[in-house]
Amino acid sequence: MAHPKRKQSKTRTAKRRTHDKAVAPTLALCPNCGAWHIYHTVCGECGYYRGHIAIQKDAAV
Ligand SMILES: [Zn+2]
Repeated sequence: MAHPKRKQSKTRTAKRRTHDKAVAPTLALCPNCGAWHIYHTVCGECGYYRGHIAIQKDAAV
């Protein structure tokens, strides 16, 4: 199998990994119930998204 001739340096590995970091999700306030939810995502409290109830939240669930 093809095999690298040289060991990749720690610097080169670190340079590649400069972009590998976890980013905190952008939060937004739900206009329906006022709870915090992840931006561009259905509200976890009431199921509201873009002007309508996208998911019916039942008490039995
Ligand atoms: Zn909501």
